[in-house]
Amino acid sequence: MDFNLTPEEEAFRREVRDFLAAELPPPKQRDAAFMPEWWKKIRAKRWIGFSWPEEVGGGGGTLMQQFILKDELARARAPLLGSDYTGLHWVGPAIIQFGTPAQKARYIPEILDGQSIWCTGYSEPDVGSDLAALQCRAVREGDSYLVNGQKIWTSLAHFAKSIFLMVRTDADAPKHDGISCLLVPMDTPGIEVQRVHNMGAGGYGDMLNQVFFNDVRVPAELRLGAEGQGWEIICSALQSERSGITEVNRHETSLEDLLDLAARSERNGRPALEDASVRRKLGSFETRIEAMRLNGMRALTRQLRGDLHPSEASINKLHNCDLLVEMSELALELQGSAASYYGSGEAVLDKGRWQLAALSWPATVIGGGTPNVQKNIIAERMLGLPKD
Ligand SMILES: Cc1cc2nc3c(=O)[nH]c(=O)nc-3n(C[C@H](O)[C@H](O)[C@H](O)COP(=O)(O)OP(=O)(O)OC[C@H]3O[C@@H](n4cnc5c(N)ncnc54)[C@H](O)[C@@H]3O)c2cc1C
Repeated sequence: MDFNLTPEEEAFRREVRDFLAAELPPPKQRDAAFMPEWWKKIRAKRWIGFSWPEEVGGGGGTLMQQFILKDELARARAPLLGSDYTGLHWVGPAIIQFGTPAQKARYIPEILDGQSIWCTGYSEPDVGSDLAALQCRAVREGDSYLVNGQKIWTSLAHFAKSIFLMVRTDADAPKHDGISCLLVPMDTPGIEVQRVHNMGAGGYGDMLNQVFFNDVRVPAELRLGAEGQGWEIICSALQSERSGITEVNRHETSLEDLLDLAARSERNGRPALEDASVRRKLGSFETRIEAMRLNGMRALTRQLRGDLHPSEASINKLHNCDLLVEMSELALELQGSAASYYGSGEAVLDKGRWQLAALSWPATVIGGGTPNVQKNIIAERMLGLPKD
């Protein structure tokens, strides 16, 4: 394995770094007008959907270049690439992989241009971890499907323009074989969205919903992939949702912030950085972030060679979640009684970023499959252990 970048990759890193130095204002100067302007600039560079094929409007970059790009953006504390997170991270890639030319032409440009807002319709009231048991029914009637059923925990459904909807099209087939995927406009008659209020704050505040489908008619041309191919599409999309090697960069900047907080904190009347347990935890974070980086690089290398194990993403999701939880816990511990302040005001430390992290981590940990589910996947599919 070679961790050195090629001269072309080094040149690309320099190009990104120079662009960011010239174009990205410091966080304090980023006002409301900044985001649309910023997205316009990076869209012009074709950095949104950078590793997507040029023929669908992507940047045609390699996966390694995509990694370098996200690495540099995270280091510069730049905002996310593009506005439609779901569209960019799993719906777009699924449409590129499984979609018809007409579907690619219809959906990909709007995802890249920030005109779309997708939500994901997998979970149902009694169906979460065992996703293949989903019951939302779609019955074929001529050139369309009639959809009836319910989804829950649907992030952003109250804003979304379209839903990436998994339905059961064959009730008699084995459960994994009877699922299909529909790309459904949210303004289709018969769709009702009800809010589910959650404890999250900031970016995760109040984003959950339940969605009801009552005789919703969906043209068959909006089915993604073949009838019964839904499970394959789900697995591919979940792999995209879970992999996130670039989360490493976010953890690195978080660790910088945590070190900064520790340097300003005290433990038992002494500087916190002199406390052995704080030092041990910080050292362990650094080591684990590095392990996550190396594992991510290994996964990336395998992906480039075309032999990535489909369950590899579960390892990254587990590491990612553990770090997220433990780093926010240590930060709140360091803040002492100030940990209970949130919102605005002088008493709130670091603009409440650690309180926000602590409130938000359940979303990242549970969404996309719980740690138990990731451990089952690793045990059964990677280690070959018998099914529980
Ligand atoms: C913030 C947030 C956003 C979400 N967004 C979406 C979304 O946009 N779209 C969507 O479709 N869903 C979404 N979800 C739902 C999420 O995917 C499910 O909550 C998750 O898959 C778990 O399913 P469940 O809640 O039904 O829990 P369950 O599956 O009932 O699990 C309950 C507990 O049992 C454990 N468990 C279950 N099965 C096993 C097993 N076989 N072995 C060991 N332990 C097991 C789990 O680990 C968990 O601890 C979101 C969830 C959250 C929290």
